[in-house]
Parts: sequence; C-alpha cells; structure tokens
Amino acid sequence: MIIRGNEDRHHMKPQKPNTTRGGRLLLGTFWIGLYFLLTIGPLAIIYLGEAPPGRGFWIELSIALGFIGMAMITVQFVITARIDRINGPYGIDVIYQFHRQISILSITLILIHPIMLFAADPDRYLPLLRIWEAPLRAVLAWLGLLGLITIAATSIWRVKLGLSYETWRILHGILAVAVLALALGHVLGVGHYLEQFWQRGMWVGMAAIVVLVSGYVRLVKPLLMQRKPWRVVNVRRECGRSWTVELEPDGHRGLRFQPGQFAWVTFGRSVWMIREHPFSFSSSAERSGRVAFTIKENGDFTDHIGETKPGTPAYLDGPHGVFTIDRRPDVKGAVFIAGGIGVTPIMSMLRTLADREDSRRFVLIYGCPAWDQVTFRDEWSELEERLDLKVIIVLDDPPEGWEGESGRIDEALLQRHLPEDRAAYEHYICGPPAMMASVREVLPTIGVPAERIEMEEFELA
Ligand SMILES: Cc1cc2nc3c(=O)[nH]c(=O)nc-3n(C[C@H](O)[C@H](O)[C@H](O)COP(=O)(O)OP(=O)(O)OC[C@H]3O[C@@H](n4cnc5c(N)ncnc54)[C@H](O)[C@@H]3O)c2cc1C
Repeated sequence: MIIRGNEDRHHMKPQKPNTTRGGRLLLGTFWIGLYFLLTIGPLAIIYLGEAPPGRGFWIELSIALGFIGMAMITVQFVITARIDRINGPYGIDVIYQFHRQISILSITLILIHPIMLFAADPDRYLPLLRIWEAPLRAVLAWLGLLGLITIAATSIWRVKLGLSYETWRILHGILAVAVLALALGHVLGVGHYLEQFWQRGMWVGMAAIVVLVSGYVRLVKPLLMQRKPWRVVNVRRECGRSWTVELEPDGHRGLRFQPGQFAWVTFGRSVWMIREHPFSFSSSAERSGRVAFTIKENGDFTDHIGETKPGTPAYLDGPHGVFTIDRRPDVKGAVFIAGGIGVTPIMSMLRTLADREDSRRFVLIYGCPAWDQVTFRDEWSELEERLDLKVIIVLDDPPEGWEGESGRIDEALLQRHLPEDRAAYEHYICGPPAMMASVREVLPTIGVPAERIEMEEFELA
C-alpha cells in the first residue's frame, strides 16, 4: 500500500456535487410539501362546494379517507416514474421503500372507507355487499378493492406465489391503472362532489396525471432511449460467477455518470421489451465513451448474461441513484463495505478516484464466500498502488494458510480496520441485505454518525 500523503493532490480534479447537502434538504422538503398538497389538497377542493344534506360526521370522514387513499395512489404513478428530479434527493431504494409503505397506508385508508360506511349506516350500505344486486357504482368499488388487495398480495408474496419479477411487474402496472379507472368510475357513479367546475377539474386533473406519466414512461422514455442505442463490445468472465459487459455508444456521445450510480439496461433488438434490469456502472466515470457493468448470475436473465455476443444492441435508462462519492466532495476519505456483487458501484468509485489521482485515504472491507469468488480479484493490488487504499478481503470459507480476515463483518473487525477519526469519513455499504443491516446497526455504536452512512440496496422487490 502506498501512502501518498501529498495534500496538494487532494482533489486534483475537484468534483462539483450536483447539489449541496442544504440544497438537497430544501429540494427534499419541497417534494414532501408538494406530496401533502397533492394528497390532502383534493379534500379542500371537494369540500369547498356544498356538502350533500343529511350525512353525518362518520360518513363524511369515511368519504374523506377514500379520497385521500385515491389521491395517494395517483401520486404513486409519479413517484415510481423514475423522474430524476424527484428521486434525486432520496435515492431509488428510499423511493421504493416509500412506495411500499405509502401503498400499505393508502390501501388501509381505502379499506376503512366501506367499513366505516357499514358501521355508520348499516341499513343503507350493507345491502351493497350483495354484489349481484348492487348498483354499478358499488360493483366498480368492489372490483377496485379486489384489484388493490391483489396488488398488495402479489407484491408481498411474489416469490411464494411463484411469480417471476417480469410477470409481477406487468400485472402490477395493469392492475394499478385498472384500480384507478374503477375508483374513478365509482366516484362518477356516486356523483357527489361533482357539481362545481373545480371539483370536476380535479378529477380530470387526477386522470390526466396518470395518462401523462404513463405516456412518459411507456412512450416518451423508450423513444428517447431508442435514439441513443448502445452496442456490446466485450464480455469477459470475472471471479464469483460474474461477467463484465462493456458497451459503446452507437452513433452518439454516450453519457456522463457519477461513480456508484446505476442504469436500467435492456439488451436486445427492441427498447419496448419489458426486460430491463438495474445494474451499477462498474467502470470509471472518468473514461468517456465505453461503460461497463459487472453482472452476477443470479436468476433467469442474469444466468445467461455470459452468452451475450459482442454486437448485441442495448439501451440504457440512466444514470440514476445517489450512492456516489461525488455527492460528498468535502469528506476526509471513505470507507467502503461490500458483500458479493455489491462491490460493483464501489469498484466504479475506486477506479474513478484512481483516475482522478485522488489522494484522500480509503478503506475497502470486502466480504466474499471464498477466495475464488472475490470479484475483481486481480485488480485490488493495482488500485492499492494507485490510491491511498487499504483492501481487506473477508472470506466466509478461507483456504488453508489464509492469513487475512475471515468470518462475519462484525464490530470487532470494523474496530480493527476503520480509521480512528472515522467520523470524518463517509461510509458506503452495498451487499446482501442481512450484511447491510448488521453493519448499519454496528457503525453508529463505534463512532460513525448516521449521516456519514450511505447504502445501496440491490433488491428492490
Ligand atoms: C440499484 C441496483 C443496482 C444493481 N447493480 C447490480 C450490479 O452491478 N450487478 C449485478 O449483478 N446485479 C445488480 N443488481 C441486481 C440485479 O438487478 C438483479 O440481480 C437482476 O435484475 C436479477 O435479474 P434476473 O432476472 O436474473 O433474476 P430474477 O430471478 O428474475 O430476480 C432476482 C431478484 O432480482 C430483482 N430483479 C429481477 N429483475 C429485476 C428488474 N427488472 N428490476 C429490478 N429488480 C429486479 C428482484 O429483487 C428479484 O427478486 C442491482 C440492483 C439494483 C436495484
């Protein structure tokens, strides 16, 4: 390991963060404020008009909950449309976590809506349960509820139900649109809160949001990607059942990304295929033109990634993500903690930092099952030469005579290798969920403040 200690070289090429921490906080607060406006705001518009006579508090409350739930579901379309300006301050994993939690909340609110009606006025509302005799507006409501429950069940128990990710995703999209259409039909059928122009305008606005966002995701984005195709130029085997796939822009200048970011990649002739997968760039962000992804055999698509032929077309939706050292140009150095294929975004950061001749101090703790599964095994010592970097490989199953670390990445191991002044370092964690959770728990107990911890989840669903 070479300790350069040459402070003049610190940040030879200073990276301008896309926004400062304060700026991101402001932007984050703005989006949260807008979220509340969009989900609670419709209530104000609805109740600006005259309320239908003779309805008590509980019925009005039940209707309010139904409206809030519906507005929340509408906004979900925007949240998951991968619009960078919205996702930027948070990161895609946080966005998907929010999506899951808000879905549960909105489904709960919508379920409370009929239950409260039954309790408030059983004579009037309970007969609506006889679906074969019920008016169309009630049938639409029941179908919508069934759709919502199916969305929740297939999302929570996708693997147990034996649904492939792709089947689930198509079903999820179709059901989400169907549920909103049914809910809208129900509201129009009931006919309350439609008298005023602004009330009708609000319903049209909600439907327009869904149509516009769906059109952007399914039509505009693929068309934009189609105008910038890529071509596979090299596929090579790596340790740990992984393959590095290199791509070159086909007739355009390529893209700029920040090291640690990822893209949704579609391999094949058509950008309209629903077979896109998220992969982190593993190449240096300083080398323009060619980009590389390192992909582990991990399922029905990735198991065949090694068979990809040079010349295969590809399309990239990205870059996305906030797991990048470029957002923290002011830190003293960084500690990277990786497990398995979770090392790819970290490799991109280290390769980039080496190309930039960054002289800060870095530590990589990399957990792998065995020596022959250490991805990028031959490159670590070269990076140690080029950077002030210490690489600690931790093996679950070390070979005979292994003198390095083995076992779990636990508190004792972290205490041994983290810098004394660790609070001044940014800590990046990416790996299997259990490893990430346990490291995340330990770090604050050994002096790493929570705001110095960044994580990237590879399992979104
Ligand atoms: C931000 C991010 C960065 C990633 N970077 C890398 C990387 O650099 N190298 C790497 O090997 N893997 C990476 N992954 C994981 C990779 O996307 C999945 O392993 C891959 O999509 C599995 O596809 P499959 O069809 O082979 O497996 P499947 O058996 O179909 O799925 C295995 C699991 O992968 C996830 N998955 C599958 N398809 C998708 C999809 N289209 N979109 C989102 N998740 C999906 C699901 O959680 C699923 O349970 C990353 C994931 C994320 C979210």
